Amino acid sequence: MAPRIVILGAGINGLSSAVCVQQACPLAQVQLVAEHFSPDTTGDGSAGFWAPHLMSDKSADMVKRVSAVTYEHLVKLAYSPLAGLLKIQMLSGYCLYSKPADSSEEVPTWFEILESYRNLTEKEMLRFPKENNGVFYTTVTVDVTAYMAWLMKRFKELGGTIRQARIEKIEEIAGDCDILINCSALSSRYLFNDKEIKPVRGQVWKIRAPWIKHFYIFDDHVLEHPYILPGVDFVTVGGNAQEGSWKTQPDPDEARRIWDKAVERLPPLQYATPLRSWAGLRPWRENPRLESDTIDVQGRNIKVIHNYGHGGSGVTMHWGCALEVTAMVLETLGTDQEQIKLLVSRL
Ligand SMILES: Cc1cc2nc3c(=O)[nH]c(=O)nc-3n(C[C@H](O)[C@H](O)[C@H](O)COP(=O)(O)OP(=O)(O)OC[C@H]3O[C@@H](n4cnc5c(N)ncnc54)[C@H](O)[C@@H]3O)c2cc1C
Repeated sequence: MAPRIVILGAGINGLSSAVCVQQACPLAQVQLVAEHFSPDTTGDGSAGFWAPHLMSDKSADMVKRVSAVTYEHLVKLAYSPLAGLLKIQMLSGYCLYSKPADSSEEVPTWFEILESYRNLTEKEMLRFPKENNGVFYTTVTVDVTAYMAWLMKRFKELGGTIRQARIEKIEEIAGDCDILINCSALSSRYLFNDKEIKPVRGQVWKIRAPWIKHFYIFDDHVLEHPYILPGVDFVTVGGNAQEGSWKTQPDPDEARRIWDKAVERLPPLQYATPLRSWAGLRPWRENPRLESDTIDVQGRNIKVIHNYGHGGSGVTMHWGCALEVTAMVLETLGTDQEQIKLLVSRL
């Protein structure tokens, strides 16, 4: 009988896992179950900017490993004929610091993944009289809604099915599957009794400012620092990070504060056209959970593969995580290691 695989959660992590698993296991029946689909997931409101952000040092190696795979995947798409459809582009810009560089501060190791990264010259710093030092690098950015529409089309063409439902207890779906892939992000708190996952609320502006062609990130070591991240159709301006807040509505006072701080650091923003303000919950966990487990559901052992807790870096990490999920699924189905390597390398 064809293996039955249910993926719970259709955010960027659930959807990319669904595509990879269905492609690597064409005979499996893969169903994506979720309460919300794009354009109503967290990634849809994110900036779609590749850079590990708001992650614990404890998970640095894992974050770097999966982020490197995702970077390669997105850059390949940025140089492919699909770039326009998916609204993926290479983007260069500035990380600026108002205080003098502390020689004890280490450069994050994920900078090694990038193709270009350098300190700003004295001449460049003259453009930023309020800042003290900075770096310039090139990364990749994606319009997550356009990208997720393409992933969803791919999933359906591969034979995957979808079901819209809010799941209150894991028993509601576990009985229907041989493998359950958990990408339910913050709901893992009650569905899997995981008290380590918590929300870190973020609020941003989406604005029209086509003259902004670089990204600007100010004092990124400070929690509520300003950032300006242009995409293809609009610019995302942030931001804040409110640990433990479950509020998904944007707050008008917060919006004004975010705007004023960003304009103060980057005056050319002044005459931009605001489009909307948006708030979302980063599913934060000190160690993002990417592992398999077995749970007992009404006397039946169910294999569960967890893929959640990506915090402020879910877009940055998604493809690397989806490939590791796929390898775990193939292993559970008894595929040998050589074949797993081959199948995953084709995704
Ligand atoms: C302001 C802001 C800016 C950001 N910018 C970036 C950025 O530039 N780059 C970056 O890498 N990351 C960024 N992030 C982080 C990124 O958006 C998240 O890490 C990522 O979107 C999480 O994706 P996910 O698929 O794990 O979870 P989610 O998108 O939260 O999806 C969870 C899914 O599970 C489903 N679900 C949950 N509970 C249930 C249930 N009980 N029953 C049925 N379905 C359920 C939901 O309906 C949904 O489909 C940003 C986040 C915020 C808030």
